[in-house]
Amino acid sequence: MNTRQLMAKDRQWIWHPFTQMQEWQEEDFPVIERGEGCCLIDTEGRRYLDGVSSLWCNVFGHRVPEIDSAIKKQLGKIAHTTFLGLTHPSAIELAEKLVALAPKPKSGVAKERQGRLNRVFFSDSGSEAVEIALKMAYQYWQQKGQPRKKKFAKLTNAYHGDTIGSVSVGGIDLFHQIYHPLLFETIAIPSPYRYRWPSGEDPEKVKTESLAVMEKVLRTYHEDLAAFVMEPLMQAAAGMIDQPKGYISRVRELTRKYNTLLIFDEVATGFGRTGKMFAAEHENVTPDLMTIAKGMTGGYLPLAATLTTEEIYQAFLGRYEEFKTFFHGHTYTANPLACAAAIATLDLFKKNKTLAKLQPKISLMKSRLKSFYQLKAVGDIRQVGIMVGIELVKDRGTRELFDPREKIGVRVIECARKKGAILRPLGSVIVLMPPLAMTIKEINKLLDITYQAIKEVTEE
Ligand SMILES: *Cc1c(COP(=O)(O)O)cnc(C)c1O
Repeated sequence: MNTRQLMAKDRQWIWHPFTQMQEWQEEDFPVIERGEGCCLIDTEGRRYLDGVSSLWCNVFGHRVPEIDSAIKKQLGKIAHTTFLGLTHPSAIELAEKLVALAPKPKSGVAKERQGRLNRVFFSDSGSEAVEIALKMAYQYWQQKGQPRKKKFAKLTNAYHGDTIGSVSVGGIDLFHQIYHPLLFETIAIPSPYRYRWPSGEDPEKVKTESLAVMEKVLRTYHEDLAAFVMEPLMQAAAGMIDQPKGYISRVRELTRKYNTLLIFDEVATGFGRTGKMFAAEHENVTPDLMTIAKGMTGGYLPLAATLTTEEIYQAFLGRYEEFKTFFHGHTYTANPLACAAAIATLDLFKKNKTLAKLQPKISLMKSRLKSFYQLKAVGDIRQVGIMVGIELVKDRGTRELFDPREKIGVRVIECARKKGAILRPLGSVIVLMPPLAMTIKEINKLLDITYQAIKEVTEE
């Protein structure tokens, strides 16, 4: 089939995620056939830099020999076996490695909460990992004799996935509003969105004021609160909203003080995106539950996990007939091929010294992004590690946004695509999130293309 035929059949049979299919009928789209390093290659042989890591999951580029061969080796043994009542070597090896890598608590924390994340519950996607964390937190309190603790608190603008439970702890009206009657009730705490904070953007002030609201919520509702859920350091899908320094350590103190479990959703921030393996490490904090997915298999196969402490795990132990069991599991839980890809990914982090080699790339992006302020539509640039959000505004003085009918983000990424980079915006925020292995030369090219695309769309 040639490209035209493939596109016609796609339009005939497929419904794409987060896509207005009416427009899909009208505009052309690349049909990606191959990958090579950090490039995607379409059926016409055009090459594109993978500027958002194939939706934030690719780590070492495409067709990585070590991951390819780990999957092939696993394939030579077995592709899938259930995890309900059985186990397999790849999942066991992976769980041990994940526990070893998980953020460790600061010394000096009270003994009973000396919460090392040393239990791994596998699933298939970030959304499921979040569902599992929510259900675990809820059931934990029910079985600990504190049945009132049923509610969840979250940050405004939050995104934790697309299933109904994870949408309940989300706060992006555009995606979530219509489902409102289906969702469970939650308490929203203002996210420390510096650029749009009502009383100005001094980070210390934003931190103090947002944490004051959080403390008030925890003080008022803690008897009813099961857990507080957030992305540490950077709310990614919210529009790359970064948090002031010291924010997550204070959140940890407050949730502990008010006996509320803390869930860190590291689905986006995990596996090196922030410059460390997990975002929580930047301030030496450990949550009670942590969700991971996206980068875990190097961007190869769907796999996720919810990590938790022995304290929480213990609350689910009992005789069969007590029914304290965690009644949750998916058909493909801990799929062996995905586990093999994840083990190879973790091994590569070590072998390639990926995190050390990432630091100059982070600095390069930081210094080059400053020049983007020469473009008058660039209102704010936010960066944590190699996660970048460039917020475009119609008026820099008033910070007024472009009219949605201008589809500013979409037009910028379409322009970038013509120049050879695949991006995906979040509304009027242009996101850059290259694979960790992208070379300095490629990052420079990605930045050149992004700059030119913003300039052409907003100034010419
Ligand atoms: C992507 C994402 C999810 C959802 O993960 P899926 O694998 O797409 O279900 C959840 N939380 C965060 C922070 C994410 O970035």
